[in-house]
Amino acid sequence: MSSFFDTKVDYLKGVGERTAKSLKAELGIATYGDLLQYYPFRHEDRSQFHRIAEVYEEMPYIQVIGKIARAEMIGEGHKKRLVATFQDESGEIELVWFQGAQWILEKLKTNVDYIAFGKPNRFGQKYSIAHPEMEVFVPQHSEAKPLQPVYNTTEKLKRSRIDSRAIARMQQRLLPLAYPKITETLPEDLIDRYKLMAKRDAMMAIHFPENVNVLETARFRLKFEELFYIQLRLLKLKLTKISKSAGQVLRDTRYVHQFYEKHLPFDLTNAQKRVIREIFEDLRSGRQMNRLLQGDVGSGKTIVAFICMLIAIGSGAQVGMMAPTEILAEQHYRGLKDFAEQLGLNLALLTGSTRKKKRSEIDEMLLNGELHILVGTHALLEEHVQFQNLGLSIVDEQHRFGVAQRAKLWNKNDQFDPHVLVMTATPIPRTLAMTLYGDLDVSVIDELPAGRKPIKTVHRFEKHRLRVFGFIREQVNGGRQVYIVYPLIEESEKLDLKHLQDGYEAISRAFPDVPVSVVHGRQRPADKDFEMQRFVKGETKIMIATTVIEVGVNVPNASVMIIENADRFGLAQLHQLRGRVGRGADQSYCILLTEYKISRDSKLRLQTMVRTTDGFEIAETDLKLRGPGDIEGTQQSGVMDLLVADLSKDGKILQEARNAASEILEADPQLTLEQHRPILQQINSLKKETVNWSKIS
Ligand code: ADP
Ligand code: MG
Repeated sequence: MSSFFDTKVDYLKGVGERTAKSLKAELGIATYGDLLQYYPFRHEDRSQFHRIAEVYEEMPYIQVIGKIARAEMIGEGHKKRLVATFQDESGEIELVWFQGAQWILEKLKTNVDYIAFGKPNRFGQKYSIAHPEMEVFVPQHSEAKPLQPVYNTTEKLKRSRIDSRAIARMQQRLLPLAYPKITETLPEDLIDRYKLMAKRDAMMAIHFPENVNVLETARFRLKFEELFYIQLRLLKLKLTKISKSAGQVLRDTRYVHQFYEKHLPFDLTNAQKRVIREIFEDLRSGRQMNRLLQGDVGSGKTIVAFICMLIAIGSGAQVGMMAPTEILAEQHYRGLKDFAEQLGLNLALLTGSTRKKKRSEIDEMLLNGELHILVGTHALLEEHVQFQNLGLSIVDEQHRFGVAQRAKLWNKNDQFDPHVLVMTATPIPRTLAMTLYGDLDVSVIDELPAGRKPIKTVHRFEKHRLRVFGFIREQVNGGRQVYIVYPLIEESEKLDLKHLQDGYEAISRAFPDVPVSVVHGRQRPADKDFEMQRFVKGETKIMIATTVIEVGVNVPNASVMIIENADRFGLAQLHQLRGRVGRGADQSYCILLTEYKISRDSKLRLQTMVRTTDGFEIAETDLKLRGPGDIEGTQQSGVMDLLVADLSKDGKILQEARNAASEILEADPQLTLEQHRPILQQINSLKKETVNWSKIS
C-alpha cells in the first residue's frame, strides 16, 4: 500500500531538493509521514506581548512588538556581529546576530512593525536579545494561533535556514493535505471509553493546537495509542508463548512441607509468602512459567528460590540455577547447600574452574537424575550439560545476561520447556518493567525481613576524611568490617587504578595493624577470589575495591560502605553498593565521599541516597534524572523509539493502555471481530515498520 504518506518531502511545495536532503540527513525525515510525525517538543504561548520597558533579565522567552531604529555591523573577524536597536513607545532593546548577520541586515526593514522573539540578556545597563526570531507583525494573523510549535533542529539545519519556524511552515502546508487521508487506528469502543480524540484531529492538534487543553487531549490520544500497541504486542507474545508451550505440571509439596516443619530458619515475610504462592500457581498450571522476580537487595530472594525448587524436585524434576559470576554462583551454592543437605537432596556447583573429573561426575549424575540442583555460571549452558529432566531454570541477576543466553537454558529439556524464573535485585520502575518485561509475569518482594535496621547514609566532603578514618577505626575495633569502593571506568582506567592504589596506601598508613584486602577487575581471577575469600572469612577487616563487589556479595559482618568519588556513580550503582551492608543485626552506615564542588545532578543523586533506602523510589528518581535510555537493558528494547510517550511520566496512561490491550485480547485473542479491524490493520502496517510513517495510516 504505497500511499500519500510515502511521498518524498521534495514534493511538498517550498521544499527543494537541498532542503529535503538536509532534512533526511539531519533529522531522518524523508517522507510526508516522517514529517507529520516529527512532533514539536514544546509550544510557545505567542498570545502574550511585553512592553520593552518591562523586560528584565530573568524572563524566559518573550516577544515584543516594535520597529528597527537602526542597524549596523560591529566588530571584526569572528566577533563581527549585527546590532539593531529595536524600539516601542516604552523603550529600546538591542537585537544581536552573530551568524548570518549580513543576510539579515539586508532583509531587515525600518518602518515595519516586527515581532521579536527570544530570551532577554543584560549587558551593563542595556538589555539585548541574541538571535531573535523576527516576524512581520500582522494583527489578526498573530492572534489566530497563540500556541506556536517548537521543533528540534540542528545547528547545521539552522545555518541553512531550516529552523523551527521553517518546519512549522512545512507542517502548515502539509497538514491540510494529509488530514483527509489519516484514518483511525483505534477501535470505536476504545475511543468512546477513554474519550480519545480522533486520530486525524490529534495529528493536527499536536502541531497546531487551539489552546492548551486541546494540546493535552491530542497528546493523550497519541501517547495512549503508542503505548497501547506496544502492550498489545507484548501481551500477544505472551499469549503465543503460553498456547505454544505446555509446561510440566509440578505440584508435589512433600519437600516443601518437610522444610517448613523442620528447617525453616525464620518466618517468611508476607511478601515472600505471596510471591511463593504466585510461583506455585504457575508451576502447577500446566503452562510454562515465565516470571520475573524483583526484590531489593536483602529482601530474601534466595530462600524463595529454594522453596520453589522443592516443588520441582518433589515432582521428579531437576533445577538449574545460573548466576553471572563465579563468586555469586559459589555464594548461592553455599547458601543452598545446608538447606539441601537437611532434606537429603543432591546439589553441585559448575563453573569455569570446575575440574574435569568433577565435571564428568556432574554430567553423569545429571543424566541419571541423581543430581537435583545444579548451580553455576554460564558454564551451565555448554553442550555437554544434559539434564534427565530439567523442570525449573532460575536465572539470578538477569541484567548481566543477554536474552539469547537466557533462551538457551529454556532448551535443555526436549519434552517440555522448563519453567523460567528470572531474579533481579535491580529495582525497575513499574512502567519500565511493563515495557521491558511485558511478556513476563512480574512478582515483587516489596518488604524487607523484620528487624532490619535501615542503613544510615551521609554525604561527606573530602575535608572530613580524617573524621571518616576515625569512624572506620571505631567500627573495626568493634569487630565490624568495612568496604571502601572506588570508581573505575574504562576511559580513565589508569588514573582510577592509581586512586585506588593511593587509597590503599593511605589506609595502610593510617591502619598499620589492620589486615586489608584489595580487589579490582585487573587482577587475575584467582587473586581476586583469594582476596575476596579472606574478607568473607573475616581475616581482613577492610576491603578496598572497585565495583566488582557490586552484585550479590554477602558479608553480614560488614557494616560500613564508604564510596569514594560518589558523584561519579549512577544511582542504581550506588544503591547496589549500599546493599552490600545492612545484612546483619548491627547498625550499618553508608558514607558518600566527594569533593566540595559537584554538579547539580550529582547532588540530586546523593540527596536521594541520603533520603531513602527504597530501591523503587531510587529507581523512579533515576528514571526521571536520566530518562529511560540510560537505564540498563533499555537500549535493545525499543522504548527509546517512543515518539510521544515518556515512560518516566506517563505511567498512568501506560497502565490504562495495558489494561485496554489485555481486555481486548481476552475477549478476542485472534482479533477476528469486526470491531477490532482497525487494530489488525494497524498491526499489519506496524509490521512493515522499516519506514516510520506506517504508524499513521
Ligand atoms: P537477596 O534478595 O538480596 O538475594 P538474600 O536471599 O541473600 O537476599 O537474603 C538476605 C539475608 O536475609 C540472608 O541472610 C537471608 O538468610 C535473610 N532472610 C531472608 N528472608 C528472611 C526472613 N523472612 N526473615 C529473616 N531473615 C531473612
Ligand atoms: Mg541474592
